[in-house]
Amino acid sequence: MPETYDLIVVGGGFAGVTCAREAARDGSSVLLLEARNRLGGRTWTSTWRDQQIEYGGGWVHWHQPHTWAEITRAGLAVDVHDERATTSWWVGDERRTATASARDAIVERGWNAFLAGCDDYLPRPHDPLARVEKLSTLDALSAADRIAQLTLSDEERAVLVAEIESLASAPLDDAGAVAVARWHQLSGGSLRLTQHTGGRVTLQRGTVALLEAIHDERRVETRLSTPVTAITQASGHVVVDTASDTLRAARVVVAVPLNTLSAITFDPPLPSAKQDAIETGQASRGSKVFIEVEGATTTMNAIRAGHEFGYLASEFDRPDGRQILIGFGIDAGAIDVTDLTATQNALDRLIPGLRVVAATQHDWIADPYARGTWAIHRPGWYTHHHAAMRRPEGRLLLAGSDLANGWSGFIDGAIESGLDAGRWVRSAAGA
Ligand SMILES: Cc1cc2nc3c(=O)[nH]c(=O)nc-3n(C[C@H](O)[C@H](O)[C@H](O)COP(=O)(O)OP(=O)(O)OC[C@H]3O[C@@H](n4cnc5c(N)ncnc54)[C@H](O)[C@@H]3O)c2cc1C
Repeated sequence: MPETYDLIVVGGGFAGVTCAREAARDGSSVLLLEARNRLGGRTWTSTWRDQQIEYGGGWVHWHQPHTWAEITRAGLAVDVHDERATTSWWVGDERRTATASARDAIVERGWNAFLAGCDDYLPRPHDPLARVEKLSTLDALSAADRIAQLTLSDEERAVLVAEIESLASAPLDDAGAVAVARWHQLSGGSLRLTQHTGGRVTLQRGTVALLEAIHDERRVETRLSTPVTAITQASGHVVVDTASDTLRAARVVVAVPLNTLSAITFDPPLPSAKQDAIETGQASRGSKVFIEVEGATTTMNAIRAGHEFGYLASEFDRPDGRQILIGFGIDAGAIDVTDLTATQNALDRLIPGLRVVAATQHDWIADPYARGTWAIHRPGWYTHHHAAMRRPEGRLLLAGSDLANGWSGFIDGAIESGLDAGRWVRSAAGA
């Protein structure tokens, strides 16, 4: 008879690691199973061109309360990056250049129109269903539908689309309009703070330092390179199958990305409400790219709707005068940036005059253990799926940033979800 753990956690991203720590705090036996040969999931601190980079999630913020509390606990330092000196944007085939605040004044007109009424339908952003009957009107729309409702000049429309594409990581026909409203409301109802929470503050030693601080706080048995294939609820326990083992636990928390849940067989099958949500999935299919360039004389930020990496900004200055830029696109299939000729051509259509030296990216969409970037929910998610996915099923709970109440799609949402799941385990064990 195999050992029965108090808890098996499936998935070693921030959500799974936090849940495992919480459950282990009272001495419970916890086993953490991770498919990859590393922890961290959609965060991945690495080194490229002698520079520490984050292939996945990287930016943190003091307005992300769960992340910030963990940063404080771990005593980690952050860097705050300055506003880039110049900004450019495109209206049709015309490139315009100014300061960030001048461009944001144009963005803001469309942004505020897009978000009119959000204090009423999303008054408490950490409780997205608080007024779901009001939220459902916006929830029925994609970001593209919502933009189509607005009366804007060509320039206002061009910058609004580019701005929202940069946070959607998906074509705007697929991204739910609520995704924009949630980020805005979580950022105190301000465009400026929305940009700040998603792009200015980094951990000096990388996200891996925060992940390890959480993971190392309690001794949790951890198995890497162990994908879970099936989960069966039996009488009084749960059976977890991996490629090489059959394991048992009193409870199981599954903290894998929403878009990978269909790869696990559940017995009994999950209820139809959850199956519908899993089939719907989340919409992100974008890219995050790093491009080293020669010829930059200032720090820059550039946006262009529909471009292969239509949000691009200076991130690192190199001692040799080169810069490393970070870019985001809405379709990972649109370009392979390691093809430097294609990347040069694309860069010329965004910021002319720079020479591409090298480029890198990780394809999170092709990655079988991610199948997406950060969670961008489709139209209808909050009205139809959010509550159903968060409901426990007997001895099983689904978790992860993609299902979080607050900063879903962020590290903060993953930690929130891990804390929630840990509380569920402890209260279920005591029940
Ligand atoms: C390109 C990119 C940029 C981002 N930028 C930011 C940012 O700047 N700031 C921010 O806060 N957030 C950002 N995010 C989002 C953030 O990284 C995620 O929301 C968060 O890390 C998700 O944590 P999680 O634990 O819920 O899921 P994950 O990190 O995806 O962890 C789930 C784990 O489950 C494992 N797994 C999957 N299937 C199985 C299986 N069958 N068996 C066992 N294990 C399995 C996976 O390997 C993974 O380790 C970004 C994400 C990406 C991809």
